[in-house]
Amino acid sequence: MYLDFGRIRGRFGMHHVNHPYVGELRIRNVGSRSPKHREQGKKTQIMAKYDNILATVGGTPVIRINNLAPAHVKLYVKVEAFNPMGSVKDRLALGVIEDAERSGKLRPGQTVIEATSGNTGIGLAMVCAQKKYPLVVVMAESFSVERRKLMRFLGAKVVLTPAFQKGSGMLAKAVELAETHGWFLTRQFDNEANADVHSRTTAREILADFDGEKLDYLVTGFGTGGTLKGVARVLRQERPDTKIVVCEPDNSQLLGSGIAQARAADGTITASHPNFRPHPMQGWSPDFISKLAEDAVSMHLIDQIVPIDGNDAMRLSRELAQKEGIFVGITAGAALAGALKLCETAPAGSTILCMLPDTGERYLSTPLFADIQADMNDDEMKISKSTPNYRFDVAPPPAAPAAPVANAVALDKDAVAFVEQAIADPAKPVVMFALEWCEFCWSVRKLFARFKIPYRSVDIDSVEYQAGGRGAAIRAALTAKTSLATVPQIFIGGKLFGGATDLLAAWKQGQLQTALADARVSYEADSSVDPNSFLPGWLQAR
Ligand code: PMP
Repeated sequence: MYLDFGRIRGRFGMHHVNHPYVGELRIRNVGSRSPKHREQGKKTQIMAKYDNILATVGGTPVIRINNLAPAHVKLYVKVEAFNPMGSVKDRLALGVIEDAERSGKLRPGQTVIEATSGNTGIGLAMVCAQKKYPLVVVMAESFSVERRKLMRFLGAKVVLTPAFQKGSGMLAKAVELAETHGWFLTRQFDNEANADVHSRTTAREILADFDGEKLDYLVTGFGTGGTLKGVARVLRQERPDTKIVVCEPDNSQLLGSGIAQARAADGTITASHPNFRPHPMQGWSPDFISKLAEDAVSMHLIDQIVPIDGNDAMRLSRELAQKEGIFVGITAGAALAGALKLCETAPAGSTILCMLPDTGERYLSTPLFADIQADMNDDEMKISKSTPNYRFDVAPPPAAPAAPVANAVALDKDAVAFVEQAIADPAKPVVMFALEWCEFCWSVRKLFARFKIPYRSVDIDSVEYQAGGRGAAIRAALTAKTSLATVPQIFIGGKLFGGATDLLAAWKQGQLQTALADARVSYEADSSVDPNSFLPGWLQAR
């Protein structure tokens, strides 16, 4: 899986192979680095086959910024969104787990736990899924909802902590849970394996990409400080001319303040940093200076600290998408803001590399997307109106009356009997005639599930009813009986309630509850639930 470093050197003329951090450098897309392919503008994947998903971590591309950068510099970004779970933290997740496996700190099947603003949890969820470790992630409720859902989708358990207890609160909870249950805490904020993986992979990739070319500045922020410490210490040794520029939120300057972090003798954080303020750059600057970030300070790895305005961070995240086609998150926009500030004073011909930590898809529910509307705006409506058909501003034609099935087609006797039997079945008084994947049928299913209402669903388009056109015959029999052409149709105790919206309205008005009581169907009511919340998302958005 990993290329022999000697071979890489032979092929790409790299010089620094005997470095202690060199281990598993893996070159993907190396064609883009070969002069021949560079000329042709082609990217050749010489390693397109992998043993498992974890082998695709790292090897992210460095991409030139063309439209947002001033002409007198060469500005590049390293796009960590190319990692399999879309962030730089995939590297850390793989690095800390494999380190713990090697040292024996993590036993096969042992539960892994971490406190994370999301990306580490998502990376760990991928690693733990592949390596079969149960995972518990502790996360402050203030981080974006899609992050929680992603981790749960990947099989992890997510335990939330109150927003007011901030990053240090979620960390303390993870420690408490790990100690109580004997779980393996990955300790991303002070685990050396975090910085090591960046020295071994991220830093080496940068050296390879800028081999034979100057690199004047590396721009990054810090969360755990893993990227910062791991990359900066290698560059210091191998490329001492490269200045390390660290960005942090302008309203929450921890490193810039020069105020040390309060810690107990064992290194535990005892209080939030006095300069911490809430900021929009999720993943950067928690409410404390981590051990790894502090190391970067004491090792004199930082040349310059640049404060970043949250509005610039979000604006540049959008501009990266809209002017460069690079879809990344808020800290990426923030890092670019820092790089662009640097450009203002950088000498002509400077080369700058800026770390972009994650994908923009993680921010759909955050202020980053606040101005991105779901509905058509005036310009879009104008385009819609510029041709005659398929328009929202034209009233729909009146619904066609139900086909006079009973008279026109001889009804299938078995289907008629089936419908009558299903409606009158005393063992299953709640019955829905449905299409298996119809969204409105799912709305009804959600309502039934939420209130624990037992029911029978006759899914007339499912495989079960397809043979011999049985589903179609049942539908014809149903329409002949109810004069309703639409599906779903719901019956309770033999009585027709209509379709999905009728049923939701009947719940609101209490009629459904009465019918259920009359039919002796037990259920669990919850008046705090708005039945409209069961409707498809696109209807609720209107
Ligand atoms: N940006 C985002 C979106 C992140 O999730 C993180 C990690 N917390 C960082 C930046 C910072 O990376 P590091 O932890 O290596 O300092």
